[in-house]
Amino acid sequence: MRDRARDLGANLINGTVHKLEIPSNDTDSYVIHYADHSGAGLQGEPKVLKVDMVIGADGANSRVAKAIDAGDYNYAIAFQERIRIPEDKMEYYKERAEMYVGDDVSTDFYAWVFPKYDHVAVGTGTMSVNQRDIKKLQAGIRKRAAHRIEGGEIIKVEAHPIPEHPRPRRVVGRVSLVGDAAGYVTKCSGEGIYFAAKSGRMCAEAIVELSAAATRAPLEKEMKKAYLKKWDKTYGATYTVLDILQKVFYTSDAAREAFVEMCDDIDVQKLTFDSYLYKTVVPANPLVQLKITAKTIGSLIRGNALAP
Ligand SMILES: Cc1cc2nc3c(=O)[nH]c(=O)nc-3n(C[C@H](O)[C@H](O)[C@H](O)COP(=O)(O)OP(=O)(O)OC[C@H]3O[C@@H](n4cnc5c(N)ncnc54)[C@H](O)[C@@H]3O)c2cc1C
Repeated sequence: MRDRARDLGANLINGTVHKLEIPSNDTDSYVIHYADHSGAGLQGEPKVLKVDMVIGADGANSRVAKAIDAGDYNYAIAFQERIRIPEDKMEYYKERAEMYVGDDVSTDFYAWVFPKYDHVAVGTGTMSVNQRDIKKLQAGIRKRAAHRIEGGEIIKVEAHPIPEHPRPRRVVGRVSLVGDAAGYVTKCSGEGIYFAAKSGRMCAEAIVELSAAATRAPLEKEMKKAYLKKWDKTYGATYTVLDILQKVFYTSDAAREAFVEMCDDIDVQKLTFDSYLYKTVVPANPLVQLKITAKTIGSLIRGNALAP
């Protein structure tokens, strides 16, 4: 994507942003203070850049979000170990991704073994930020997948916040936030790559549309309409449905049993697959919808998930 941007005329700078100065009116420039890493040395060379607009695409710990006082979000922690497993064991994961649920692997989310081309990522997500809890959950998923990852060698350990909902303010003045900086990870699945790319694109398209061939910088009001309103209209329902699903099904082992039983249904699988693929809540025909609802309630009752 970076190469494509350069080929289309973008001026790429390899730098770390340290500070964003906010102008006091609608016309003065934003001033970005950054360390330029194009030369030698880890520190980089301090430089300053004046710009008309800023898109903060700098992830969950966004400095741009802090600079515009975008407000905080709750976050989960995703912890994972990249493990190189023997070739015969890797064969099993060539066409498979595994999701594990249960209090032993995550008390409020799920754990996973995902193939990453020539190795696997074994990890867990949780709202708990207590390191000891996370270690215990990670030990849980390692134990559950033990026979499949036996003989594996850890090649990398990663931990990172995962936003749980959008920030209170995503457009302030001529600054817009996209991706994790805005808080666009979906509940339930924890998917954020698609939404990061898509929001970047939607935001950029709004700027192109409103900037009259780069002769003016769109204002907050205009960006809120052309980018935020469009975003919320397109994906709002997806976020809401996944939020409800997480709240209903990820809270206890009984509810998780119901979730697993429900996922065995072919109509649920079809609905989920289509919704995942098209990133929209795909409506099923009313009869199928009714059947799914009845089955869901049945699963919850059988799993004793509705008991107080
Ligand atoms: C362990 C784990 C597993 C995940 N698995 C999945 C998955 O399977 N599928 C999925 O869809 N999502 C997954 N996610 C979520 C997904 O990774 C994120 O939602 C997605 O990467 C967000 O993209 P982004 O571009 O907004 O932010 P990031 O990918 O975090 O990119 C931000 C970029 O900004 C740069 N940056 C930050 N601060 C500065 C600064 N001050 N100056 C200059 N540059 C800066 C960073 O170096 C980075 O390159 C996972 C997350 C984690 C933590």
